[in-house]
Amino acid sequence: MTDTLTPSRPAASCRCPDTTPALPIYLDYAATTPVDPRVARAMLEFMTEKFGNPASTSHAFGQDAALAVAHARRQVAALIGAPAADIVWTSGATESNNLALKGAAHANRARGRHLITMSTEHKAVLDTMRRLETEGFEVTCLAPQADGLLDPAAFEAALRPDTILASVMMVNNEIGVIQPIAALGRICRARGVLLHVDAAQAGGKLAIDVDQLGADLLSLSAHKLYGPKGIGALYVRSGVALEAQMDGGGHENGLRSGTLASHQIVGMGEACALAQREMAGETARIALLQERLRAGIEALPGVRFNGHLEQRIPHNLNVSFAGGGAAALADRLPDIAVSAGSACNSASSAPSYVLRALGLDDALARSALRITLGRYTGAADVDYLLQQLRVALG
Ligand SMILES: *Cc1c(COP(=O)(O)O)cnc(C)c1O
Repeated sequence: MTDTLTPSRPAASCRCPDTTPALPIYLDYAATTPVDPRVARAMLEFMTEKFGNPASTSHAFGQDAALAVAHARRQVAALIGAPAADIVWTSGATESNNLALKGAAHANRARGRHLITMSTEHKAVLDTMRRLETEGFEVTCLAPQADGLLDPAAFEAALRPDTILASVMMVNNEIGVIQPIAALGRICRARGVLLHVDAAQAGGKLAIDVDQLGADLLSLSAHKLYGPKGIGALYVRSGVALEAQMDGGGHENGLRSGTLASHQIVGMGEACALAQREMAGETARIALLQERLRAGIEALPGVRFNGHLEQRIPHNLNVSFAGGGAAALADRLPDIAVSAGSACNSASSAPSYVLRALGLDDALARSALRITLGRYTGAADVDYLLQQLRVALG
């Protein structure tokens, strides 16, 4: 297990193609990441020995767990430049988005009923907005430009006197583009509008500073940054009112009741600490892999990259292949895990709504593969994918 997870040699040191890599190859890091073995090790102790309920502070079992939770809270907060007291544990970014949007809309409904988001947001934002619409809120859903980016001027023009909240993701999960959050944050601040940022795909990949971004609410998910599934966090700027969506024992200052999942929390904390320590080196290494992948794909016939090519994380390439469906192409790459179309809606065969929002027609949207690189991707993996693509398209 540990062997297959050992990071491959940095691409820079690989002048010739490596030998055949271990199969199958995982290139779907945007869907989820493996738990880093260092994270898994840190978690184990909090399931078996230090299993206490962090709320049971009258004895050592609970105190040990509570100390670990406090440590993890500092680790998560440090990754985004926030005070530890502003972190609320959730079950993942889906719940963080629900708590942020429903919580802020409900708590601020006396100030206005207008909300703003983008058509390329994750379903956890779009469906939550749709729910709020049924409750009487009005939602403006802004389209991106053809490169996937939101124009801050268009955003500013959409604000109304009764706008209370805007939600724009930092990095898009399908096309990897980085939205101009700091510019939106300045606009929101000047107009007294709360800004929520879904940073599930940005955490551990980009430097995040909630003050510099002007974010009032920010969602994170552990399983997108080499932590366990089922744990996430919501940053809530001090003074921002939220209505709880889960009632019970009053945990997390009443914002999210339920016994804290201490082992999951320890895992998320450790994953964030590792990300913070290793992000610069890892991003540089992955950027080299992306260059290698992009050069190889550009040499193939009839390809088109989706999403802005510079304003993006290096971990993601989204490519349309002319003259065929992506699902059929993915079937011809049996040893390689990539995402055809919309991963988060993979049960449906509908073309990706994100790519359609960029202006791609049905056929081009259906022919797109999302290739996402990560901590355990090596040059040999990229070379193998390129070789298999040549065979499949040839
Ligand atoms: C994965 C993801 C989510 C959902 O996160 P979970 O922790 O799986 O609930 C939300 N938003 C974005 C952008 C994501 O990539």
